[in-house]
Amino acid sequence: MIKEYDVIIVGGGITGAATARDCAMRGLRTLLVERGDICDGASGRNHGLLHSGGRYAVTDREGAEECIRENKILRRIASNCVEPCGGLFITLPEDSLEYQENFVKCCLAAGIEAEAISPKEAMRLEPSVNPRLIGAVKVPDASVDPFRLTDANIIDAIRHGAEILKFHTVTSFVKENGRVVGVKVLGHGESTEKEIRARQVILAAGIWTAQLAENAGVHIEMLPSKGALIIFGHRVAGMVINRCRKPSNADILVPGDVVSVLGTTSDKVPLDTIDDMHATPQEVDLLLREGVQLVPSLAATRIIRAYAGVRPLVMAGGEGDGRSVSRGIVVLDHESRDGVPGLITITGGKLTTSRLMAEMVTDKVCEKLGVKVACTTAVKPLPGSERRHPKNEEPYFKRAAIGRHGTEVSRMDFERGREIICECEQVTRAEIAYAVKTLGVRNISDLRRHTRIGMGTCQGSFCIRKVAKVLAEELGQPEKEGEFINDYLQERWKGMTPVLWGDTLREAEYMQKMHGNEV
Ligand SMILES: Cc1cc2nc3c(=O)[nH]c(=O)nc-3n(C[C@H](O)[C@H](O)[C@H](O)COP(=O)(O)OP(=O)(O)OC[C@H]3O[C@@H](n4cnc5c(N)ncnc54)[C@H](O)[C@@H]3O)c2cc1C
Repeated sequence: MIKEYDVIIVGGGITGAATARDCAMRGLRTLLVERGDICDGASGRNHGLLHSGGRYAVTDREGAEECIRENKILRRIASNCVEPCGGLFITLPEDSLEYQENFVKCCLAAGIEAEAISPKEAMRLEPSVNPRLIGAVKVPDASVDPFRLTDANIIDAIRHGAEILKFHTVTSFVKENGRVVGVKVLGHGESTEKEIRARQVILAAGIWTAQLAENAGVHIEMLPSKGALIIFGHRVAGMVINRCRKPSNADILVPGDVVSVLGTTSDKVPLDTIDDMHATPQEVDLLLREGVQLVPSLAATRIIRAYAGVRPLVMAGGEGDGRSVSRGIVVLDHESRDGVPGLITITGGKLTTSRLMAEMVTDKVCEKLGVKVACTTAVKPLPGSERRHPKNEEPYFKRAAIGRHGTEVSRMDFERGREIICECEQVTRAEIAYAVKTLGVRNISDLRRHTRIGMGTCQGSFCIRKVAKVLAEELGQPEKEGEFINDYLQERWKGMTPVLWGDTLREAEYMQKMHGNEV
């Protein structure tokens, strides 16, 4: 008998992952299909800023209110993925103190605890900030690890009965009498499509939603808005630092674990380029020029890579550069909107509001299926965040893993795998084995997303051979060791190419000498 699901979710970014969690928690038979690895799209290519809502307070009150509400919820239910570092909005002499005054008013009106502080106090709180500042506002911004947050949603979805089908592309939809009753999928390396049926299909495919919807006979006007970002090899600031002005280029610096992320730009790009996104040297120049205005020491800090993502924004009418288009949450019921029952789209929004997005679309699905189970995702903690893990009482080889996975470390076998494989990020064999078993890792790039292997200051230069060997052993594929190294280095070069000067160039040459045979 062919298995039928209540719901199929297309896309394994944060929106799809949070939706799979919510659907499964409400008892729906849930399948999530992702064409690559979890977090392959925009969810793995952003700042990792848990917005307080400050950035939107002046221009989008509703968006700001959603952010602060969800910010508070995620701090509770995803405490292991969130670093409550706080944020500053700084005003420089070329900006306006009148804007700052209005900014504080708008924040307070949206429920965001914003407090204007003196430049001296700002420098005391965050010594790296540009000393030319003439004003500052403290807000409850935080840093969130998007990979950890998405993984935690996926793991919880699985533990509530959901199935996750990675490395399978949804190629088209199965329709009967005008109703969408399933999807056709093609697995990587396979030549025959499979048909999978469900009572409802949810499109959560980020910027790829438009193309997929077209396939189902539905038109969604999306505006692909590219944003480029730079990662610096050190944590230059303890807090998130924003520029207090109308949102513009390079006005956010976010600390994430041991590195700092500077972004972003916002440029409209053609839909047919979204599969090949990378930062350009021009974008890097622009980001650096503006970024040193936030934190001057960035000028002398080693850049480890640059990358780009595409925001899944929906056109609300008119043209724009991406900053003027709504970043609001968009739920489209294609039955009432387009006469195509069985299909619903969830897109727009932000990483910060992903839980709310999931709640909204799951409510819609439950309404269609006649299911009357209330949403509990705002109160039930995600795996790893059930309680604070007493890190300092644990042996050194467990501590970094606790920071990354919280209470999930109890599922790692440190008896067998306590040796440290990636020195910068202190990743052990036990953590690698956990990622292989729990998150379906297939190569080093997948492993990087789920453990931070190779994301530290050496970018894998020293550990990559060890990592490849251990991964090959854990997967039971010893013949793949060379292929793993090669693929990983190719991926790293892409991120290094736009920033190849100074220390980064020296590091690239060093990597070439150490691992040249493989590339
Ligand atoms: C530069 C930049 C910076 C940002 N910074 C922040 C920030 O600091 N804070 C914040 O809150 N938000 C931020 N955002 C917004 C946030 O990243 C996105 O809103 C969010 O990640 C979108 O998640 P998603 O799951 O909807 O889309 P995606 O993460 O893009 O996921 C869509 C998934 O669908 C899959 N897919 C596509 N086609 C198919 C198919 N045919 N079959 C199967 N799977 C398919 C893709 O592989 C992809 O994994 C930023 C965005 C960008 C671009």
